[in-house]
Amino acid sequence: MPAPVVLPVARRWFERTTIDHAITLLWEPHVISLMRCNIWHLRGRDRDLVIDTGMGVCSLVEEMGDLLDKPVTAVATHGHDDHIGSHHEFADVIAHPLEAPLLEAPPLDTLDIVRGWGAEAVAMLTASGYQLDASYFVDALPPGYVFEQYRQQPARVTRRVVEGDIIDTGDRSFEVLHLPGHSPGSIGLWEAATGTLFSGDAVYDGPLLDELPESDIVQYCATMERLLALPVTVVHAGHDPSFDRARLHELCRAYLVTRAG
Ligand SMILES: [Zn+2]
Repeated sequence: MPAPVVLPVARRWFERTTIDHAITLLWEPHVISLMRCNIWHLRGRDRDLVIDTGMGVCSLVEEMGDLLDKPVTAVATHGHDDHIGSHHEFADVIAHPLEAPLLEAPPLDTLDIVRGWGAEAVAMLTASGYQLDASYFVDALPPGYVFEQYRQQPARVTRRVVEGDIIDTGDRSFEVLHLPGHSPGSIGLWEAATGTLFSGDAVYDGPLLDELPESDIVQYCATMERLLALPVTVVHAGHDPSFDRARLHELCRAYLVTRAG
């Protein structure tokens, strides 16, 4: 048996900031930057949305106690480890059919990076521009938390959505965009009335990952062309800060230059 892993104690697990009257951004500061996903809370009239849920180290529902006062739907932009950790805490869960199996049987059962992903995957990420000098997905743990107890919990996907489906909160309506490339069932939520896009990992303001075993560069290029044509005002992405249409165009064009030639 290897010796138990002991890390510094984090008094608070989540941080948050208010984006506007309806949108709050939460994140996990002690998760390494590569895996620190944006957790979006969108307040609706009849129903709230939580878009992606982080690593699942601590209870997200407990953290959001003051924000959640009505039925809530947890959407997964895709099934990667860093986006689905707390979906199991929600009774109403939405994902694309190609990603749902990852929520229902999440593979990650350790916070040790090499044990969780394998040395080959770690080498690939380093080649993609991510400095992975850490051994663990976290640099601290909540009080009393035993490193070895971590494993992601299965969620029940109650609604599978595909291109063109609508996710409605009573006062706002989001169209599901199927944006494959990073993963086969990646989706975005598009609100045409405000030009707001929740993009997941289809696009964010950092090195994009298109060489994972489940990625597809040809599909990714098509997704970029599609995003270029979208009359976007703001993109709230799966990682990194939000950005406007001009930055979206820079990111999409930069990708297409390197990948489509
Ligand atoms: Zn991802």
